[in-house]
Amino acid sequence: METIRTPSIMKQTSRRLQMQGRSVGLVPTMGALHEGHLFLVKRARMDNDIVVVSIFVNPTQFGPNEDYEKYPRETDNDIEKLIKAGADILFAPDVQSVYPEGFSTSIEVGGITKKLCGLFRPVHFSGVATIVNKLFNMVTPNRAYFGQKDFQQTRVIETMIADLNMNVEFIRCATVRESDGLAMSSRNRFLSPEGRAAATTIYKTLSSAAEQVKAGVPPPEITEHMNEALRAEPLVEVVQYAGVYDPLTLDEKKASGGSSLLAIAAIIENTRLIDNIVIEV
Ligand code: AMP
Repeated sequence: METIRTPSIMKQTSRRLQMQGRSVGLVPTMGALHEGHLFLVKRARMDNDIVVVSIFVNPTQFGPNEDYEKYPRETDNDIEKLIKAGADILFAPDVQSVYPEGFSTSIEVGGITKKLCGLFRPVHFSGVATIVNKLFNMVTPNRAYFGQKDFQQTRVIETMIADLNMNVEFIRCATVRESDGLAMSSRNRFLSPEGRAAATTIYKTLSSAAEQVKAGVPPPEITEHMNEALRAEPLVEVVQYAGVYDPLTLDEKKASGGSSLLAIAAIIENTRLIDNIVIEV
């Protein structure tokens, strides 16, 4: 596996790959890789000649009081995992080369970015859309792979690709979970053993809500149950949102039937955890 550390070399390399007619799959990440990330890499491996994984802890998607500084960084470990998963290129630029002095452009996707996570993380999706756009320009992938765990992020990227006529095929991959259902996340390591145990309440709440959706319980009632279940866990410090949403608009659903996004954002031991399930009835 080759490691590339500057945007200019990445661009040269992607031009060469394009000229050779080789298809490129991109998996954007912030590192501290786990099986969820590696699932995307393996999927990209099946579909493309060349798999590029980016590791970049993107400062512009973190708010002022968020965990940018303490976000785990462990590139040596990540490199070993990526070699095993079959990646061809690791693109790991530094902040200075991605945002040089004078950088002043950002991508704003409207509508859906103002809901759910966007209500609590006002700069987040603009930071995400901007860095993903930049990565697309640097890597020029044929396909890009994102995890359903960050469902709203997948909707934002999908919308950006469509709205800006980008020449990238978007691929959403299923959420990879621990054996007790907790969605894998680089942030799970911030939890104490007690916090880790309490975090299982998130997937349990989603799963029982999914049963209620299937049984035709009205969404407002399900939302109430979800909030009650989360609040019953003493280590859940804040429930930012929990409910039943339309997967396209991300608005709260009022009536049963059709597609439902069950989504939760909660804070446990100062760690913000999100998870979701999408159900078709
Ligand atoms: P991150 O490093 O957290 O920015 O995540 C990089 C990519 O991996 C994003 O597309 C995430 O949605 C995806 N991802 C993170 N956790 C998981 C998971 N448990 N299962 C599947 N994909 C995931």
